[in-house]
Order: sequence, then C-alpha cells, then structure tokens
Amino acid sequence: MKNANVSIFVSHFGCPQKCTFCNQHSITGAYGDVIENAKIAIETASRTLGENSKNAEIAFFGGSFTAIDEKYMKTLLGLAYEYVKTGQFKGIRISTRPDKISAEILDLLKSYGVTAIELGAQSMSDKVLSMNNRGHNSACVVEASGLIKSYGFELGLQMMTGMYGSDDETDIETAKKIIALSPDTVRIYPTVVIENTELCELYHAGKYLPPSLESGVELCSKLLLMFESARIKVIRLGLHSGGGVEDGYVAGVYHPAFRELCESKIYLENAKELLNADEKGEKNLYVANGCLSKMVGQKRANLEALKILGFDCTVKERNGLNKYEVQSGE
Ligand code: SF4
Repeated sequence: MKNANVSIFVSHFGCPQKCTFCNQHSITGAYGDVIENAKIAIETASRTLGENSKNAEIAFFGGSFTAIDEKYMKTLLGLAYEYVKTGQFKGIRISTRPDKISAEILDLLKSYGVTAIELGAQSMSDKVLSMNNRGHNSACVVEASGLIKSYGFELGLQMMTGMYGSDDETDIETAKKIIALSPDTVRIYPTVVIENTELCELYHAGKYLPPSLESGVELCSKLLLMFESARIKVIRLGLHSGGGVEDGYVAGVYHPAFRELCESKIYLENAKELLNADEKGEKNLYVANGCLSKMVGQKRANLEALKILGFDCTVKERNGLNKYEVQSGE
C-alpha cells in the first residue's frame, strides 16, 4: 500500500551540531514527548489502516537516530518492534547521519527489526558539506552505504539541491555519485531558507542567494530522470507541505506540489522535442492514462508555453504509452 508509513519525528535528537539550513522543528512541526506521541501515532495508524498496516513501516525521521542516547534509542526501537514482531507492521525505517553508522549500530538495528536505513547525504561535494556545517564528508556516505547494503538493509539516500556553496553542476555530480552507490530509494530536497537558521542569516547578509522556483524545477526534473533511468525510486521530491515549513519559510525552492511541477516540466520538454520539426498550428498530443494533467501543466502552463511556440495543443490520453511519453496524431 502506498504512503502508509507511520512517521515519528525525533527532531534534532542526537545531532552533534546544527547544519546551516536546518530547523527541524519548522520542518517536521514536531514537539512534545516523542515516546508518548509515537505510541499514539502507531496505535492510530494501526486502527486506521486495519489489515493494510501489515504492509506499512514505522518510520523514525527528522534527527540523527543512531546518534541518540542508546538507552533512549532502544526504548523507541523496542516500542516499534512490539508491533513488528506481532506482524501488525512490516518493519521499521530510520533516518540518520552517514557518520553514525557502524557494524555495532547495524547489529543493534537488525536485532530490533529495522528494515530500511536512510542517510542524509545531502551533497557529495566535501566543500559544500563543510560550508553547510554537516560535520561529515562524502567518504562517510560511501562507506556507510556499503556497510548498510552488506547487512541487507534497504538503503535510502537523501540529497539536497541549491545548498550554500553548490550549483547545478555540483548537484548533478552529487546525483551521479549517489547513483553509483545503488541505493534502493532517494529523496531530493531543494534547499529552503527557514527562519532561525544560519542559512537565514547568510541569506539576509546577501551571502546566500537561493535558486528560483523555475530553475529548481528545471534541475530537479533532470535529477528525477537520472534516478528513474537508473531504476532508483525517488520517494520524495521537495519538502512536505503542511509539516510546518510554510510557517518558517523565508526563501528558496518550495511548492506544495513540487514533484508535479517537475514531472510537468519533463512532459513539456518531451512535447517540445516531438513538435520541434512539425509545422505550427493545431495539434493533438497523447499521453499515458492518468498523466493528462501533468502534460497540461499547472494553470495550463505547458499548453501556454507551447502556444507561444506556435502550437495550439489539445491533450488526450491513450492506452499503452509509457510514463513521460508524448505522441502526436489525429
Ligand atoms: S543532521 Fe539532520 S536533523 Fe541534524 S541538524 Fe543536520 S539536517 Fe538537521
């Protein structure tokens, strides 16, 4: 079942330092007693999902899970594992820092039924990692990823775009290096300037200029294609809406339907390529079932862009077409 995971946020727990861009309370909207909240979240999900909970994972996100106090980590894992042992949930997913992975930690996670580990790689440029006060280098990501895979966990890698000190070329290089590590899943987060962060100070001092939404969409649509071509699932593109980011938002690439904007951009580029050699005028474009709105674009943006190029397009669905495929015809 899609998106059925129970997410439990452990904001900043275990983080040895604060990354320039991070204000986890704004990103996750999480406060209060994590253990109590975790119990409530799991019980609620169990009731809501019913039988479907057997396909869902209990996910600890938002901090550096494997760097938190071991006793506290075991309490959280033990709580979740009770539900995994009984078969009520499929497994446990955690996110953590690449420099907080070791054989000892992985043994512990295995013994508590953890199935998937996501690492916040963010960038594979050591310069960018250092400028953003990440406290680890890219070699850590490579080493931790190899170890996680050797233990048979599902590996997830998270990357950011438009970080302080980065550019499109560096971000594309990061994506290539992440692909080389063969993760099972990837999350892509364009950098957002959130209040009460060092990045916000850099922004106000004119030292950090975030990319525009348009250029963020252009870059991330390329990254999406790169990962999907390598058969790596992009399970998140853009920060979650409704989790508090809107309250602390100052600047940067953020849109509640960011992934849809990126997918629409791919359709637009494919349509342009298809129509490139055609005579201007009225056209029928065909896309796979369920993809019509992505071809049309938000507020008909793609159709307007094609109109400017001289193509008055009507979009229809057609059986048998692949994702992102665009055909023209009668
Ligand atoms: S390690 Fe993750 S949670 Fe901790 S400060 Fe950095 S980005 Fe935030």
